[in-house]
Amino acid sequence: MKKLAANERLSIYLRLIVVISALSLVFLSLPVNPALPAASAPATAATATLDPPLAITPTNTAPAAQAPLRTATPSASTATPQPALTVSVSNPDTLKFVFPTQGPLPISLWRPPPYDLPWAPGPHDHFYFARPIAANKVNWPLPDYRYGGTMDDNDHLTIHTGIDIEAPFGTPVLAAGDGTVVWAGYGLESMSHNPNDPYGMAVLIRHNFGYQGNRLDTVYGHMSEIDVVAGEKVKVGTRIGLVGETGNATGPHLHFEVRVEENNFFYFQNPELWLVPPQGWGILVGRVMDSWGNLIHRLDIRVTSKTSDQDWTVRTYGNETVKSDPYYQENMVLSDLPAGDYTLSIPYGGGTFHQDITIYPGRVSYYTFKGFYLFKTQLPPTQAPDFLGTATPTPAH
Ligand SMILES: [Zn+2]
Repeated sequence: MKKLAANERLSIYLRLIVVISALSLVFLSLPVNPALPAASAPATAATATLDPPLAITPTNTAPAAQAPLRTATPSASTATPQPALTVSVSNPDTLKFVFPTQGPLPISLWRPPPYDLPWAPGPHDHFYFARPIAANKVNWPLPDYRYGGTMDDNDHLTIHTGIDIEAPFGTPVLAAGDGTVVWAGYGLESMSHNPNDPYGMAVLIRHNFGYQGNRLDTVYGHMSEIDVVAGEKVKVGTRIGLVGETGNATGPHLHFEVRVEENNFFYFQNPELWLVPPQGWGILVGRVMDSWGNLIHRLDIRVTSKTSDQDWTVRTYGNETVKSDPYYQENMVLSDLPAGDYTLSIPYGGGTFHQDITIYPGRVSYYTFKGFYLFKTQLPPTQAPDFLGTATPTPAH
């Protein structure tokens, strides 16, 4: 979008000329007879191309790319364990699930191994959980229906309270962290053994660690088999069941939630801010607002890699009831991005705004967009900004 100034253009031309002349020198020094084996080329020509030796510069030179420090550890939960949940869940149709149209398969399913648990490169980060599906399988969120996504169902807007991981029927489901099974079976939503529960056969694990004095739970829904019972202690990676399609699901997948408990309430959090990233990969977090500072709901944001030209489209959260992280106050998260340079494209006011942003290994890259006024890539201030006051958990009815 940016027009180049005349002197910038001149400097680009000059650089091009230098590169072209360097290339033609290399060409001229090559043997004329193509049949001649390369080894018989004059030694001077061979060494000339290697002098100076090639310098490989890493793409991440910013200070933030330094090896992240594991500074924070989850606080041990001080709350006394309770035999059963004292909370109930709202929105009986939270979990309605329709499989979106199948997109093209990813180029490679291989991903780097994850960082060690818990992973907390910054004071406000809390990547405490392992993937609930093994690393040799697809274990990342279905891109079209992330946390905070919406599903139109008979004129009723349903908000997604977790992520879905697409997995074949019977794939083992693993505990995301150490803890105690609090619920196992049908009826998680209503806390009664209701065979029509939207979560289907589900497990709720209360973890041995908390966050900022609050307890942490993870939920695993739609399973075809459950291998644990309430009260059982599990370790991270313990097999707790198998992927299925029980409850409100139209295909085999795992529905995974992260819940923070505060007093007798709980609220959902975006699991993409809690699952340890693969090594060398980072997380993009954004707060997208209009010019007046109101969050923009259900806006498609494009994220384009400058090195691979790969594209991602992330939709901002469905409405104001979706709980954000108390610090980031985000309305979009895109995890599992290889470190490197990216361009954000945000449609607004009849045009498209672009912003360059760098993803660092194992870290959160944060931006705010405020309509015509502001595009910032700094983290929120550590001391409570205005909007932190609104971060109170909503009671569950
Ligand atoms: Zn789901």
